[in-house]
Amino acid sequence: MSEVEGAAVADAEDGRLFELSEKYLALQREAREFAASVRDIAERADEAGDIDPEMRKRLAASGIGSIMVPAEFGGRYERVDSLAVTLAREAFAAESAHLDSLLGMQGIGSYAISAGGGEAIRDEWLPAVGRLEAIAALALTEPDVGSDLKALSTTLVRRGGDLVLNGRKSFITNAGDADFYCVLAREGESYSLVLVPATASGVSVAKPHQIIAPHVLGDVVLDEVRVPENHRLGAPGEGFTLVLSTLATFRVSVAGAAVGLATAALEEAVRHAAGREQFGVNLARLGSVPGSLATSWTEIEMARALTYRAAEAAARDPLANLHLSSMAKVGATEIAGRVVDRSVQTMGRFGLVQGSKIERLYREARPMRIYEGSTEVILDSLAKQLVKGVAW
Ligand SMILES: Cc1cc2nc3c(=O)[nH]c(=O)nc-3n(C[C@H](O)[C@H](O)[C@H](O)COP(=O)(O)OP(=O)(O)OC[C@H]3O[C@@H](n4cnc5c(N)ncnc54)[C@H](O)[C@@H]3O)c2cc1C
Repeated sequence: MSEVEGAAVADAEDGRLFELSEKYLALQREAREFAASVRDIAERADEAGDIDPEMRKRLAASGIGSIMVPAEFGGRYERVDSLAVTLAREAFAAESAHLDSLLGMQGIGSYAISAGGGEAIRDEWLPAVGRLEAIAALALTEPDVGSDLKALSTTLVRRGGDLVLNGRKSFITNAGDADFYCVLAREGESYSLVLVPATASGVSVAKPHQIIAPHVLGDVVLDEVRVPENHRLGAPGEGFTLVLSTLATFRVSVAGAAVGLATAALEEAVRHAAGREQFGVNLARLGSVPGSLATSWTEIEMARALTYRAAEAAARDPLANLHLSSMAKVGATEIAGRVVDRSVQTMGRFGLVQGSKIERLYREARPMRIYEGSTEVILDSLAKQLVKGVAW
């Protein structure tokens, strides 16, 4: 970090509002160092629609992927630790959205296996996930179903001792590169989760969409896909329970990524403002610019404090603290949107230049308010919890 970027933002990054123990500080240092080491390929990877092989190779070599599986399966910690994941994603998203997604999805896509997989399935996949030898994916969304997941139409039936799936999943991260998909499907009157290897007969991938901040995305078509009964995750009808456990563990890490991204955007704006004069005055002292920079810093610190607090609570008891993770996710992603927008404004025309870091961060901030629970859907469920039991 340059001197101009300032002690201010750097100090804030050290988590002074929240005391991190040495275990977490060590991981934070490691993740930041690793993220800085992939700066040379970050821009290329962030514009890619497939997993960047070099990024994957370097992440695998770093060993940081091991935070995504329990120690029993080669993981770094006894169980997946939301605060550790959040800190790693904060460091990664400041440099590369592609790197952040690559790490995050190894956990999000495999957590249901850790929580609900049988012994053979866990042994087969989890060690490989931690080493990035197997790429994970979670397939919930469908072409006509997003937030309202209970309306999904993918079906699961038992036939001849096997599980047979039919349907189409849409906007699935890692589609095409994943080695397996944890698929949520309707089974009779309830919903179940099944592990579908990418090589299973009847699985195909289409890539009909790309988004403003390129992402490894695709549709997964399931046409009479047959897998053995032991590929079921959890008991029949437990699909949503596993999805909820996944959210409870990982939603707060999206807040971490948003804090990292916002910090990087503010650093760009500070560096630009401090190095430019207009009307004979340094931009950082001109008109509303200082207020804009300080407002961004204040909001980032608010977001970081809540995010670390929520992540620490999720690390202790994910489900009991889902409301805090949800607040952190909404708060930090909305703040990241405002910070990145203000930063572009501070940089004037230079904030709009294609291929610049700030332009990339501007695009990358936007999807965060939509995936892993959109702002509105999360606020709606928080409000329901808030008024529960109150007569009106
Ligand atoms: C980059 C990216 C990666 C993704 N990766 C995956 C993945 O790996 N796996 C996967 O399964 N899905 C993935 N998705 C899909 C994502 O989960 C959905 O986009 C998300 O669930 C929202 O659904 P939707 O886009 O269909 O919006 P909709 O549900 O159609 O919502 C549209 C708008 O209506 C609002 N709205 C909806 N319901 C309510 C409500 N009850 N109250 C108030 N407002 C409401 C929403 O907030 C939103 O503003 C990904 C999406 C993106 C952008």
